[in-house]
Amino acid sequence: MKRFVGDDEGRVKELVTVEVKWERNEKGQFIPREQPGTEKTRPAQLVLLAMGFLGPEQALLKDLKIETDARSNIKADFEKYTTSIKGVFAAGDCRRGQSLVVWAINEGRGAARECDRNLMGSTDLP
Ligand SMILES: Cc1cc2nc3c(=O)[nH]c(=O)nc-3n(C[C@H](O)[C@H](O)[C@H](O)COP(=O)(O)OP(=O)(O)OC[C@H]3O[C@@H](n4cnc5c(N)ncnc54)[C@H](O)[C@@H]3O)c2cc1C
Repeated sequence: MKRFVGDDEGRVKELVTVEVKWERNEKGQFIPREQPGTEKTRPAQLVLLAMGFLGPEQALLKDLKIETDARSNIKADFEKYTTSIKGVFAAGDCRRGQSLVVWAINEGRGAARECDRNLMGSTDLP
């Protein structure tokens, strides 16, 4: 999807799309590259956006000035979960990127353990 086209009353009437090919850039990241000559205009009256796997919302992270990694996730080591701000921990998808419920549970428990250690000086949590 490249853009929406609206009518005179601001209602969507068309979508402009282009085909992309996923390729690695110079940093080794997969990025979508537009394919020349594939742009199409399609009629549309209602558009529903269902977007996932886009990383954590950045507003709060920017406000707190928390360091993020190259994939826009919160930078925090596995098993430690400490972020660039002392006393702030990150676990689950916001740290490791889109993943699985079992990892979210595992990291949530680990982060609870590290919070306990941070607050109490030691921890009995697994
Ligand atoms: C479409 C889809 C299908 C999936 N299918 C599977 C599957 O079949 N099996 C599987 O194992 N995993 C699946 N997953 C992945 C799994 O859902 C996630 O890995 C897991 O939910 C991550 O848990 P989490 O606690 O880290 O994050 P989340 O479950 O995303 O929880 C984060 C929570 O934080 C809240 N939040 C965000 N910002 C703020 C804020 N500023 N203030 C307060 N709260 C905030 C959000 O509302 C949310 O409730 C799927 C994911 C998607 C998107």
